[in-house]
Amino acid sequence: MKKSISLITIALILSFTLTGFDLSAQESFKIVRGKQDTVYTAQHFIVGVAPAGSLITVNGTPAKQYKTGSFGAELKLVQGDNTVNVNVLTGGKESTETFNVFFKLPVAQPAITDTVPFSGKVVVTKEGAYLNYGVGQDRLGGAKGNYIAEGIRMELLDSAQALYKVRLSENSYAFIPKFLVNHEPAGTKPPFSLTSSWSVSNAGNTDVVRVALEKRLPYTFFKEMEPNRIVIDIHGAACNSNWITQYLNLKMVDYVDYDQIAPDVFRVYIYLRDEFCWGYKVDYSGTSLVVTIKHTPAPAYKGALAGLTIGVDAGHGGPTSHGAVSPSGVREKDLNLAMTYMLKAELEKRGAKVVLSRPDDNDVAMSQRIKIFENANVDMMVSVHCNAGGNPLRPMGTSTYYKHIEYRELAKTVLERLVELDVNNFGLIGNFNFSLNSPTYWPNILVETMFMSSLPDEELISDPMFQRMMMNKTVKGLEDYMKKVKTSLKRGSKR
Ligand SMILES: [Zn+2]
Repeated sequence: MKKSISLITIALILSFTLTGFDLSAQESFKIVRGKQDTVYTAQHFIVGVAPAGSLITVNGTPAKQYKTGSFGAELKLVQGDNTVNVNVLTGGKESTETFNVFFKLPVAQPAITDTVPFSGKVVVTKEGAYLNYGVGQDRLGGAKGNYIAEGIRMELLDSAQALYKVRLSENSYAFIPKFLVNHEPAGTKPPFSLTSSWSVSNAGNTDVVRVALEKRLPYTFFKEMEPNRIVIDIHGAACNSNWITQYLNLKMVDYVDYDQIAPDVFRVYIYLRDEFCWGYKVDYSGTSLVVTIKHTPAPAYKGALAGLTIGVDAGHGGPTSHGAVSPSGVREKDLNLAMTYMLKAELEKRGAKVVLSRPDDNDVAMSQRIKIFENANVDMMVSVHCNAGGNPLRPMGTSTYYKHIEYRELAKTVLERLVELDVNNFGLIGNFNFSLNSPTYWPNILVETMFMSSLPDEELISDPMFQRMMMNKTVKGLEDYMKKVKTSLKRGSKR
């Protein structure tokens, strides 16, 4: 028996080169999900892996087995003890595992409160700081506002777990991770500044808007689609700008304007010419707020990928970050890496230059990935992942993600091509809190190809042929996007 199992294992490894499916000689099958002692929902999934061609029952009901060897069943638990019996028949040999799952109705957890009054204290931002809208938390942290430059002082208002509540202006506040600020000496005053002269100039591949201030002040910003403009609120600033120099050779910026929307909030408007945004950055140089807006890259006028520099990111990597692991043991990081090389080859065939953030099985920090793309001055970025979660017995499907509204069209265009593969459309997901969707500096999307945790999805995405089809569709989506860009450029500037 031992011999036939290992032969089947070899056959599986050959047909699914990336499968980690690996039963030890003593094991005839393995349960990878559903063996918890205590659960809080009646709907309960049992997922396992067994040699291909096994006959499997869970509590007497046959369970479907997929090509990967994975099998699964859904149970409706009763309150209290539930006996689960998994029976696997492989090549005439029968194995059984019986265990107990206790279903307990959930008990409401008391809210965690950690509020300490602060008065007159000031913190200053470190490199890489960002603002959160609130104290909400999810898998990827609470909803983020925007990155802000280092060296910005703000009055401390409160503390909530890992976040400080900080004042932006008289009537607005935000939250900031505690590890991203330093405390200023007692007696430090929060900053206030009058605005001074502006300049708007063409720096070659970018247009640059500079607003001179006396001190670095906190700012929040966003892009609007209609009207086509970038909006920046400088908190703690009052207008004293009586001089706005605007050069006539600007390419992306149409014109600039401002509004004093509150006594201490100065709002900057930057109206753009081209409908499609190629990225912008808000930062400080000394005490001047500097907004750098990328020009539409020259290759975009041809409506193709040739000549563009495209960042391609393989999710996870290294010894500790495997990402999701499928029931049969396929690791997400391995699939992601294999797919990024498929994507790279297809993009290069079309004349694009590709920059990889993770070229091998090493762990690369998110901040480092952003730096790699920034140093390469990428024109756009695609991050490749596989999803997990939800019902393991149903096809869950494919999805694309963006954070900033100006990159929604890119995510949508790629998704429209991916769903041509006749897979479930899990959706176009906006305002997504993924680190590589946070930069505004280049158009960026996350492609969550398929779900590792879904048995039918696992069967598809474990197959290198299908991986290649997904990456080819991604490239088709990027090509469609470039055609849309060309059409809009032909229509001419929008005002
Ligand atoms: Zn992932």
